[in-house]
Amino acid sequence: MDTHVFDVAVVGAGPTGATLALALAQAGMDVVIVDARDPAAAKRRDGRNFAIVTGSWHLLGSIGVTDNLSKISQPLHGLQAVDGGSHWFGRPSALFSQSDLDGADPDETLGQMVPAQALQAALDEAMSEAAHLTHLAPALFDDLTQVPGAVSLHLRDGRSINTRLLVGADGMNSPVREALGIGVEGRDYGKSVFTADVTLAQPHDGIARQIFMPEGPFATLPLTGQRANLAWYMKRGAAEALAEMPIDQVEAELNAKFAAFSGVMKIDGNIGSYPLILQLANAMIGPRAALVGDAARRVNPLAGQGLNQGFRDVAALIEELSNAARTGLDVGSAPVLGRYSQARRFEATSTALAMDGIDRLFSNDHTLTKPIRTLGLLAAGKIGPLRRLLARKASAAEDGVPDRMKGW
Ligand SMILES: Cc1cc2nc3c(=O)[nH]c(=O)nc-3n(C[C@H](O)[C@H](O)[C@H](O)COP(=O)(O)OP(=O)(O)OC[C@H]3O[C@@H](n4cnc5c(N)ncnc54)[C@H](O)[C@@H]3O)c2cc1C
Repeated sequence: MDTHVFDVAVVGAGPTGATLALALAQAGMDVVIVDARDPAAAKRRDGRNFAIVTGSWHLLGSIGVTDNLSKISQPLHGLQAVDGGSHWFGRPSALFSQSDLDGADPDETLGQMVPAQALQAALDEAMSEAAHLTHLAPALFDDLTQVPGAVSLHLRDGRSINTRLLVGADGMNSPVREALGIGVEGRDYGKSVFTADVTLAQPHDGIARQIFMPEGPFATLPLTGQRANLAWYMKRGAAEALAEMPIDQVEAELNAKFAAFSGVMKIDGNIGSYPLILQLANAMIGPRAALVGDAARRVNPLAGQGLNQGFRDVAALIEELSNAARTGLDVGSAPVLGRYSQARRFEATSTALAMDGIDRLFSNDHTLTKPIRTLGLLAAGKIGPLRRLLARKASAAEDGVPDRMKGW
């Protein structure tokens, strides 16, 4: 029987798990990461492009993966939100730009648009070269047992691993969360998002543009050149059906509805559809265990906050574990994990609920909610301090973010 005890075992080598494992291994901790996916196998198609906000970009920079990524990413210079409902005075809108990040470096952007596949490839490459990091993949986490001073995780292939701390970074259906007996709450929106890459008729100037229609938002997210990634929210079943239709029919439907907002669009590919679900874990920690990323919460992707919230978990956990290691504390002990939970639980839950609130507020043309959202967009558009506050919050540039996200 293997008696080696790792400092940290991470289950899930998606963007949050891989980033955490790399940062901890680089800090000298003895880390193992386990993933069901074989990094050497042919890549699965992934139509997502992530809006990685500035704080998250700094975190990725601190583990050395942004040099290559910046060659293929599109800087985000602004976010424009437009109310697509019917108003006698036109369409209220608000534009958040990098000038709203007062005190920031003049070259600072709101973030970067990065293809999901490229981010994963950069992290896979960094993991293959990292010291102090054992990467087991493909390998499936199955179950766990508590042992004195450690937790033992059991893999489907019969191997067991002992570790002082187990981190579940294993996504929305988290088997680690289930093995810990942590329940979830939330709701299925009954909606899906249709995604595709398109070429635009005019330059986008790095501005992400979103129009809120009563049936759901529609966004063009800038990619390199004159391309953009679409996010079109619609009823469950409609997005899935659209993703199966011939491209010329999809293009005709898209332009009939949104050419007045975005100009004429030509679909390049990367068509996909994803169900929208709100899901919050009832706890972020268990005995010698912590959850990060989608394992802890799945949010509505309408404001591009899901992975960015996951990166906040990662940065906060790195901070607590580094402090513990420096002062000789057990990284899996209850006080260390308690501080992590305290740092994240409230902020993460309130952000997830705020996304839910925005969805409820904008996805209808109700007589009661319409004036509130109109007022909100008018205020954000006209009142500088409010706009600056929202821009700093959205790009994780506000006070109180973990050090790793500050870019020092
Ligand atoms: C259309 C769309 C657009 C989005 N856009 C944005 C955006 O612009 N910005 C943003 O911040 N967020 C965005 N998100 C959210 C983002 O996709 C997720 O928050 C993010 O992918 C979660 O990363 P993760 O590492 O926590 O989990 P995942 O990426 O789900 O990774 C989980 C990993 O765990 C592994 N795993 C699972 N089970 C096991 C097991 N039993 N044993 C071993 N390994 C296992 C899997 O193989 C996988 O590699 C978007 C989401 C969607 C659907």
